[in-house]
Amino acid sequence: MEKIGIFGGTFNPIHKGHIHLIEACCGAFSFDRVLLIPTRVPPHKQAPDLAEDKYRLEMCRLAAEDNPLLTVSDIEIKRPKKSYTYDTLVQLKKEYPNGNFYLIMGSDMFLTFRSWYCWEKMLKITALITAARENSRMKELEAEKKQLELLGGQAFVLDIPVLEISSTEVRERLKKGRDVSGMLDTKVLSYIREHDLYSK
Ligand code: ATP
Repeated sequence: MEKIGIFGGTFNPIHKGHIHLIEACCGAFSFDRVLLIPTRVPPHKQAPDLAEDKYRLEMCRLAAEDNPLLTVSDIEIKRPKKSYTYDTLVQLKKEYPNGNFYLIMGSDMFLTFRSWYCWEKMLKITALITAARENSRMKELEAEKKQLELLGGQAFVLDIPVLEISSTEVRERLKKGRDVSGMLDTKVLSYIREHDLYSK
């Protein structure tokens, strides 16, 4: 079996908090590969500060360049209808029939997982991995992990240093012309400047 990590998000833009989580997972789980999957945002949901799909995809590619385990997938961006994680997993299962899946997500997503479309079916085809985005949330995460296990799922909570970065904060700082160099990969930051993203 091939051990495959799956990490989805809007990545508007991808930041060091995302990369930190992926790297911690790679260290702890010895993945054969990790798929980084930017979500397609349907036109009716587009906000003024949402970068176009092609820009978010390219920023993910730049951030992934330094990690040979990482592959950026356009599976959701190419799908014409709304992207549900469940549909993505079903499609990936066909593409990687020997894949053992681990869905990676931050604590905000993990704690709401049981409201996702087809979450019970997802528990049967993937394990979940999470880590806290804010300090002092470990107890809550451990409790949710227990619940998911009682329901037959497999969940892992990583105890790693918290990096309190969000794309929202990055965008706000960029709009105000403030320094974001500690929050972004240098290549991603250059790309943002080159294409004048998030400046208005
Ligand atoms: P926004 O601020 O625009 O809502 P975001 O920073 O939450 O964006 P997303 O692209 O929505 O980023 O997140 C993708 C995934 O990465 C989610 O599972 C989210 O929980 C996780 N994540 C985001 N930031 C961090 C962080 N600093 N530490 C750990 N996980 C994170």
